[in-house]
Amino acid sequence: MNLLCSINDFNEAKQVIVGGVNSPVRAFKSVGGSPVFIQKGQGYELIDVDNNHYIDFVQSWGPLIFGHCDKDIESVVMDAIKEGLSFGAPTEKETELAKMIIKMYEGIDKIRFVSSGTEAVMSALRLARAYSKRDDILKFDGCYHGHSDSLLVNAGSGCATFGAPSSPGVPEDLSKHTFVARYNDIESVQECFKKGNIGCVIIEPIAGNMGLVPADIEFLKALREICNAYDAVLIFDEVMSGFRAGINGIQAYCDIVPDLFTFGKVIGGGMPMAAFGGKEEIMKLLSPSGSVYQAGTLSGNPVAVSAGLAALCKIEQNPHIYQEMEKLALRLTEGLKKLAKENNIALQTCVRGSMFGFFFNEGVVKNFDDAKKSDTEMFARFHQAMLHKGVYFACSQFETGFICTPMNEEVIDKVLNRADEVFKEIQ
Ligand SMILES: *Cc1c(COP(=O)(O)O)cnc(C)c1O
Repeated sequence: MNLLCSINDFNEAKQVIVGGVNSPVRAFKSVGGSPVFIQKGQGYELIDVDNNHYIDFVQSWGPLIFGHCDKDIESVVMDAIKEGLSFGAPTEKETELAKMIIKMYEGIDKIRFVSSGTEAVMSALRLARAYSKRDDILKFDGCYHGHSDSLLVNAGSGCATFGAPSSPGVPEDLSKHTFVARYNDIESVQECFKKGNIGCVIIEPIAGNMGLVPADIEFLKALREICNAYDAVLIFDEVMSGFRAGINGIQAYCDIVPDLFTFGKVIGGGMPMAAFGGKEEIMKLLSPSGSVYQAGTLSGNPVAVSAGLAALCKIEQNPHIYQEMEKLALRLTEGLKKLAKENNIALQTCVRGSMFGFFFNEGVVKNFDDAKKSDTEMFARFHQAMLHKGVYFACSQFETGFICTPMNEEVIDKVLNRADEVFKEIQ
């Protein structure tokens, strides 16, 4: 496979853009090699600047549930563009999109739209702190909630205490207020509640940012109970899993209702869109009805809202797509597992709706400590080899894969055939 144009493009980009990319994971650092520069997308395919075609399991890191250039979304966006790119004033479409989300999810009275998942989570957190009147928050090791200061915090010396900044520039004074517990471990949560004055717990109920690691339903139940007992606000960050793991994300798997939700990715249909929402008594504290400040020049942008609305309308009209995508995800992961086994490679797999994950790992993965035991060098070899055979997986062991509706069994079987060759090469 010829990647000359991509390599040239990357070198040129590095002259003017930090690291050559506008989001670090795109640089392929953890798998080596040079990132592929994209010319265009088409259904389930990506086409790079050297005209190589790839079966795309990244789908823009989740948003593109209907694949690239979906005709229905595209035509709605074209129409919206002709009426103006931005007004900084309310439109009817925003209300329509809010109604749609509220109808699909239980436990959302009010919503506010923003432009990125980071913003949604940062704002939800501010609101939760204002409501609980407590500064300490609790997050889980391995969960990602965007890059706001309070959440760029690691377990540091270990779980079940306050964390350490995971990036220079994050004040330690701030990270002291972020406690870090172990995913799927309720005792570590109890410990944090004893040590801190925690007013808010945030979790990816289906974690997709340490690889795919769903929370046990019993664990989520216990989390809801402990938040009730301490009067702490429970936030489900469904920026990735919302409208992806199922039509209503985690609620397709259990009936636990958090106090606040955050959404992003799919609700923008590929445009910059995100939202947070939840209980009236909390949401009403938000400006202008309350005094918790939050704003955005491009929040609820009419083109982005149109794209999101088109995507969610299509989802609502075709709820069967989740079962169909789950079938394909299982065909892929079961197939990979079988082929890996034939080549004496240990592989752990997981599927939730259109989301799938696989770890080169001997043991079952329930938390980030388990995930970190994976063979990342094996993953890097697998990633490179698959890329060269025209299969585009996320460029890290600790990411989730995504099925889109244009995929079918034939596509999955093509991928499995190539994986068979690759496992033989890399074992
Ligand atoms: C992607 C993601 C975010 C951040 O969203 P951005 O739009 O990249 O800022 C937050 N939380 C979760 C769970 C995510 O997957």
